[in-house]
Amino acid sequence: MRIEKTRLTLVVGVLGTAMTVLATLDSANAQRRGRGGPPTVPTQEQWEASAEAQSRVATAMTLAGSDLRPQAESFCSATGPLRLALARQAAGLPPIENYTIEPTRVFDNMYFIGMSSQNTWAITTSEGIILLDTLNSADEARDVIVPSLQKVGLDPADIEYIVIGHGHPGQSDHTGGALYLQQTYGAKVMMHPLDAAQVLPNQRPDRPLATPDSDAIPGETLTLGDTTVTFVHIPGHTPGSLGVIVPVTYNGTPHTVMTFAATQMPTRETLMQFERTFYEFARPMNVEAALNFHAGGLQDDFTLLESIRNDRSAPNPYLYGPERFDRWMSIMIECGRARLAAMGR
Ligand SMILES: [Zn+2]
Repeated sequence: MRIEKTRLTLVVGVLGTAMTVLATLDSANAQRRGRGGPPTVPTQEQWEASAEAQSRVATAMTLAGSDLRPQAESFCSATGPLRLALARQAAGLPPIENYTIEPTRVFDNMYFIGMSSQNTWAITTSEGIILLDTLNSADEARDVIVPSLQKVGLDPADIEYIVIGHGHPGQSDHTGGALYLQQTYGAKVMMHPLDAAQVLPNQRPDRPLATPDSDAIPGETLTLGDTTVTFVHIPGHTPGSLGVIVPVTYNGTPHTVMTFAATQMPTRETLMQFERTFYEFARPMNVEAALNFHAGGLQDDFTLLESIRNDRSAPNPYLYGPERFDRWMSIMIECGRARLAAMGR
């Protein structure tokens, strides 16, 4: 717990004040985030010089009011929100070790399982577990996912499906544990075919990816026992980045939440797809919480998880409610439009 407090200070710093530090990010960083392709975010100079971008920032800040101000400041920056490791790098801080987070029952039927840098979500159903993402490697699947599930009373042998939210060629940070879980427990692996097509031929030799058993197609659903989840498309970070909309309950009350493989929308087309996902799925389905796979990237997960572990009778801090989630998503899209304007796209 003491270690988490230390990290907590860092995260609070990242969310609260690091936006100015992030302002020092330059075009080299933009290039890096594009992983060798065209820049995916504007330079700080482009960002500041674009009148349209700045007017969209103002719109986003108005939408934010006071309750979503930190989130709006995080989204409405030249880089957009950065996960903890990248935010530290951008701020010139040394890397911190990746450590196991206390597994947490965030909703009655959904658990945060994983590490400070990458995490997974386990959805429990009447006929087994749907696991979203798999950490970096077989070692982490064996030494983090399996014991964390057991610690909260779940049996890893009950993992029926693994849904991988996205994958990068040559990287394994969401995909690396899938093969171990597939081979050890017979879990069926699902992934968007566009990401499978780019990842499978370009695997890290030391971290082979499971061959997916089936495709996760946006707009389609997966039903296991009493639970049906919906796949939605949020491309931009990778071509096949997925959101998963999940019905949950908290202390018995039903809610709908959505996981985000990523929030980047570096082109007009990807922004339009985010809008479609918002208007056709998230809003009509009354989504009211955004869940991430890099703790600290979208909200201060470290604090939120701790508060849930300490007091389950209080309102769940992940649940924004539909109205606030609607503004949060509108802010994300408005800031995406601002970055596109700053890049002249
Ligand atoms: Zn990624």
